[in-house]
Amino acid sequence: MKSRRSRVMVGAPGLYTYGAMRIGGIIREAGFKPQITRNISDLRGDTIFLSLYSTLHLLDPVIKDTVLRIQQEGGTCIIGGPVSSGPEMVLGELHPDLVVCGEGEESVSRIIEGNDFSDCPNCAYLEKNEIIKTSQHRVEDITFPLPLIPEDIATQDIRGAQTYIETHRGCFGRCGFCQVPRVFGRRIRSRTLEEILTEVRAFQKKGVRKLALIGGTGSLYRSRDGEVNSDAFISLLEGISSIMGPKNVSCPDIRADCLTEEVLEAVRAHTIGWIFFGVESGSEKVLDLMQKGIPIDKVRDAVEQCRQYGVKPAGSFITGYPGEEEEDFQITKDIMEELCLDDVFISIAEPIPSTPLAKQICSQDPVLDLVSIPHTGDYAGLHLSEAEARAFDLMLHSDVCRPVPRMTQDTQYKAYLKEARKQGTDIRNVTHLLRKYYSG
Ligand code: SF4
Repeated sequence: MKSRRSRVMVGAPGLYTYGAMRIGGIIREAGFKPQITRNISDLRGDTIFLSLYSTLHLLDPVIKDTVLRIQQEGGTCIIGGPVSSGPEMVLGELHPDLVVCGEGEESVSRIIEGNDFSDCPNCAYLEKNEIIKTSQHRVEDITFPLPLIPEDIATQDIRGAQTYIETHRGCFGRCGFCQVPRVFGRRIRSRTLEEILTEVRAFQKKGVRKLALIGGTGSLYRSRDGEVNSDAFISLLEGISSIMGPKNVSCPDIRADCLTEEVLEAVRAHTIGWIFFGVESGSEKVLDLMQKGIPIDKVRDAVEQCRQYGVKPAGSFITGYPGEEEEDFQITKDIMEELCLDDVFISIAEPIPSTPLAKQICSQDPVLDLVSIPHTGDYAGLHLSEAEARAFDLMLHSDVCRPVPRMTQDTQYKAYLKEARKQGTDIRNVTHLLRKYYSG
């Protein structure tokens, strides 16, 4: 068993992620006094848990140097978080002592008690140049100790919230680009309301004023077999807003086919009053390729219902999904115009490890690789890939598809172009990395 005097630290680059705070809470519960940081150069100690949430972290020289430094100083470096869906990549690029794959709570409890890695579930490590993976399983009961909340949590800003909190795990959806059903499963496991509210109070006590809910799709809290449990969802929002105040709570993501009148009423009464739908595409063909499972008419209905209930509808769109043709893209532009959402988020399809999209990218015909094919249409002079050009075009289009249209100013035009190029570059790098480890 490790000594309770061992120095244990938890960190994530640039953010106090919910996952890092959760792991810190488990370590504290085991009798240690962990510290948490979002400045990874501060990570020092006997055992370091590093939470990484972007595949690009695997290519970041600062993170590579940090892992090496921790080990050279005699520490054990353990990596978890969303990148752990590709343990081969994590081990191959960063060379940590251990990767905790997927749900890490049980593994961390066992690791911190000093168990041999081979006796800890959901782990991957190198032994004589062979990757050893221990048994994979998900805990049934997602009851956890309070997270380790840093004193300066109130200085954090993640899209307007100082922190996210988890209400449940899993999503019955099958979206080909999404990690949630692959990491957490398609069956919903929910935390108790009492535990969630205790956690909300703890965050508030540390100065958090605004928080957002995570958990696949918000209204699936305590749902079974895809049936929305409106009563449970109402109690959840009522409870949290009674502590935080309704203007300080957001429940961003809800599937368009998981809305009820009661859900809409609760979002209006107990949150900032926005719902974010994953629209993704206007083309039924592309939605099928994505395995989205929500016909575009359902999205139309959901947006209309939001407006009837005084809730602001927003949505995300994905461009450059393998198989998206020019005519599909034009349909997406049309649907963006028709829906006239209050806010939109546009991204190029990103192959996240463990998703069907990532598997497809590793084995697909290069003709479908829209993030690498040069664009030859209206934006040819800008030297963009096809996926970048579509993302850029959709960003420009979004300015006129708002309830109050706006002229795209020069600075905004440049910002959209920069963003489309950055996304394209990032995704080409991720694609290259995935193919290095998982092709063939
Ligand atoms: S509905 Fe949302 S959480 Fe569920 S699989 Fe699709 S993208 Fe993921």
